[in-house]
Amino acid sequence: MVDLNMRVVQPVRLTPESRFKFRCHPGVPCFTECCGKTTIILTPYDILRLKERLGITSGDFLEAYTRREEHDKSGLPLVVMDMPRFEGRCPFVRPVTGCQVYSDRPGTCRYYPVGQGLLITEEGLDEFYFLVKEEHCKGFQEDAEWTVQSWKEDQGADYYDEMNKEWKAMLLRRSSVGKPDTDERTKNLFYMVMYDLDQFRRFIFKSRFLQIFNVDEDTLQRIYEDDLELLQFGYDYLKMAMKIKESDSIKPKEGEKTTPASPA
Ligand code: SF4
Ligand code: SF4
Repeated sequence: MVDLNMRVVQPVRLTPESRFKFRCHPGVPCFTECCGKTTIILTPYDILRLKERLGITSGDFLEAYTRREEHDKSGLPLVVMDMPRFEGRCPFVRPVTGCQVYSDRPGTCRYYPVGQGLLITEEGLDEFYFLVKEEHCKGFQEDAEWTVQSWKEDQGADYYDEMNKEWKAMLLRRSSVGKPDTDERTKNLFYMVMYDLDQFRRFIFKSRFLQIFNVDEDTLQRIYEDDLELLQFGYDYLKMAMKIKESDSIKPKEGEKTTPASPA
């Protein structure tokens, strides 16, 4: 739900201890107004939760509800909820009953009306927060008081952050080297591994992948059965393929290159 429209961003940098008043519930006059005309970037864990909630494959989810874009700083692919295809509204919102995927809603929806900022500084990652105050949002007139941290905990946003931190770090790492010339093969690999988990699983088990890499039996069993395990494996694999970090769980066989053929 966070629009990257800077006019509604309060120019005050918040910390986890910063306080604000806010409450959102079906009785507010603006109920569901925020679920449209905005940009929701979907993270790998958002997609995992939503496709499982809907009982469809990641490929079907991506095709039905999203469009592919490119992160301007890193050149890596992003997945965005394709609201223009649904008359400018989120495909999961209903006028009376609200969000149809509420317990699996994306991290951005959980954070709202708090926005997240992340900068790379000489000292490392600098994480901060800000408030997104849109004119139509009446939640600020309610009397519940939060700190940024208690809001994140209440909304389950902390867990989402944990599941996505490697993805975010890869985007930031690439961004920090200026406009990197990311080739199509790397972009397609990143898109598949991060966003299309069912295709990634087929890539591991049905392509030459296991002729090129050694992966122990226990890991293979876990990633075959469990999407979250597969996502964690994907982070390891991508970091290796993008030459960020060697992996403990996956090693190229002798005489093989680090990266197998393009998935696309
Ligand atoms: S996923 Fe739910 S909370 Fe998020 S924009 Fe869509 S309807 Fe609103
Ligand atoms: S109070 Fe704000 S967050 Fe809640 S429904 Fe209204 S616009 Fe959306």
